[in-house]
Amino acid sequence: MEYTSTRNKNIRVSAAQAIAQGISEDGGLFVPVSVPAVSMDEIIELSHADYITRAKKILSLYLTDFTDEELDYCVNGAYEKSKFSSPKIAPLVEVEPNTHVLELWRGPTCAFKDMALQILPYLLTVAASKTAGGKEIVILVATSGDTGKAALEGFKDVKNTKVLVFYPEDGVSPMQKLQMMTQEGENVGVCAIKGNFDDAQSGVKKIFTDPAVREKLAAHNMMFSSANSINWGRLVPQVVYYFSAYCDMINDGSIEPGKEINVVVPTGNFGNILAAYYAKKMGLPIRKLICASNANNVLTDFLTSGTYDRNRDFYMTASPSMDILISSNLERLLFDLTGFNDELVRGWMNALASDGKYTVTDDVFAKIKDLFVAGYCDDDATKATIKKVFESDKYLCDTHTAVAVNVYEAYKERTADETDTVIASTANPYKFSADVLEAVIGERSSGSEFSVVSELSVATNEPVPPQLANLSEKAVRFKGVCEKSQMIDEVYKMLGI
Ligand SMILES: *Cc1c(COP(=O)(O)O)cnc(C)c1O
Repeated sequence: MEYTSTRNKNIRVSAAQAIAQGISEDGGLFVPVSVPAVSMDEIIELSHADYITRAKKILSLYLTDFTDEELDYCVNGAYEKSKFSSPKIAPLVEVEPNTHVLELWRGPTCAFKDMALQILPYLLTVAASKTAGGKEIVILVATSGDTGKAALEGFKDVKNTKVLVFYPEDGVSPMQKLQMMTQEGENVGVCAIKGNFDDAQSGVKKIFTDPAVREKLAAHNMMFSSANSINWGRLVPQVVYYFSAYCDMINDGSIEPGKEINVVVPTGNFGNILAAYYAKKMGLPIRKLICASNANNVLTDFLTSGTYDRNRDFYMTASPSMDILISSNLERLLFDLTGFNDELVRGWMNALASDGKYTVTDDVFAKIKDLFVAGYCDDDATKATIKKVFESDKYLCDTHTAVAVNVYEAYKERTADETDTVIASTANPYKFSADVLEAVIGERSSGSEFSVVSELSVATNEPVPPQLANLSEKAVRFKGVCEKSQMIDEVYKMLGI
């Protein structure tokens, strides 16, 4: 399988090159030149297999330049059962008849980012051994919370890699901050910056693209790579769990093989829902892709009007991992729906950069309307949903998952569509304890983070994940805070060069 760029369709690279490089030099994202098909017979066969086997099958279709042994090494290392709190890795819970929650947060950091970031270090080191001549890989991350911790945990003590994370000093939740400050591992570095997430992200981008920095790293036999969802190596592992969910539904008798399902995804950067789109194209019977947003509803407007317009207020919500106005993976969908028209995509992305908006052609909009349903809800509705689901279904969900549940319920009421539905659940509720507790008991606790965790556990009787409960006892290793102009000095210091 070869890969091309969304901004230059003449480019051809291998999967290993696409993953090692992260982003195309023209600024485009790598996509496979064709989408491999999976038959219903193959899906039925996978339903008898475990998660590791399902993952190997799906990955092998896209990473054709990886050997069988290399793929085994990647999937066995990433989805080792001891690292996840469920032997199914991504278990499916039927909370109401026909409504299934896919728990993607059973990994080490309690957020769905683990599903991809546990395997990315393996994919990246194999890819680099094929293409980068043994250079040490330096992963540089700007995070608003979940990605940073999941990348640190995924890359910790992985040979031949270093991982450095910058986060906005006041822009992450207390739990997220503590998770990063106490990170273990010999090859990790964490630094807060005086600024917001955008400052952290532009600082990292500047470091990435500075030729002088790249030369200095090369002189020390190092190279940068990216762990955010523009990297194909982050996206392809996410296709797996949609197949896995369908297999589990066959196994538990929820559906007959071949029957269509709906998928609902709480969406930020459009990575998770794009993976579901690829699963559908590969042959997984998905009827509607339902895209759920919070008050930052730029995607709802786009998917229902055909105009993407980021010129609007930015809200800090109770579902912070979805507080985003530029969903970068949308570019991959547009490239696909235009039949690989790189000229059109370049035009839209240039318009987005200069005017903050663009409108797709009628033809593309018609396809979008056929594939997607979109909706959003605000924080009050999110909390009301947490309360309702907890009381009527005895299921405690986090704020991001609640947005998806709310949007799905509105869709069901509007359409009376009773199709079996999978709702992607993206975080453990204890990662956002204060808001979840407020939703459940009706008032905001004034306690510290860990007392809020205990209050929530008393109120709900839901187990606290040990990796969050234990944080209060861990030593703080990273207290550094730097000016945004000093980020490069921090990078050199952490790399020891
Ligand atoms: C990252 C994240 C999302 C958004 O996922 P995208 O792939 O960016 O759309 C949703 N929920 C949680 C908890 C996340 O960490």
